[in-house]
Amino acid sequence: MDCIFCKIANGEIKSEIVYQDETTVAFPDINPKAPVHLLIIPRKHIERILDPAGDQEKLIGHLVTVASKLAEQQGISRSGYRLVLNRGAHGGQVVPHIHIHLLGGRQMSKMG
Ligand code: 5GP
Ligand code: ZN
Repeated sequence: MDCIFCKIANGEIKSEIVYQDETTVAFPDINPKAPVHLLIIPRKHIERILDPAGDQEKLIGHLVTVASKLAEQQGISRSGYRLVLNRGAHGGQVVPHIHIHLLGGRQMSKMG
């Protein structure tokens, strides 16, 4: 599978893995937009949320739970943080493997 995030998840591409479990991996974004900018991904290659449509509630729920634990670990839980899940072209999704961005450590601007 020629997918950057799959390769990071399986160790083919070296990255600092800040969290991993059976289904999920997290690592720093290569182009951080905030003092804390982590990406939380499923090990399984799924291009977009609900694509193919299916029961992803558990998967997405777990990604969000991991993100909030990482926020705690990074010390940004109290100050607050932003979780971003881009889907498809208009959503600004560039990497076609589901990922949640965890952004924090600075004041986020209003959504536009
Ligand atoms: P998207 O726009 O698809 O939601 O976000 C993709 C994110 O992946 C971007 O913030 C980009 O900086 C990050 N990214 C792209 N390629 C790599 C890579 O090879 N390693 C890491 N750690 N992050 C990447
Ligand atoms: Zn992938």
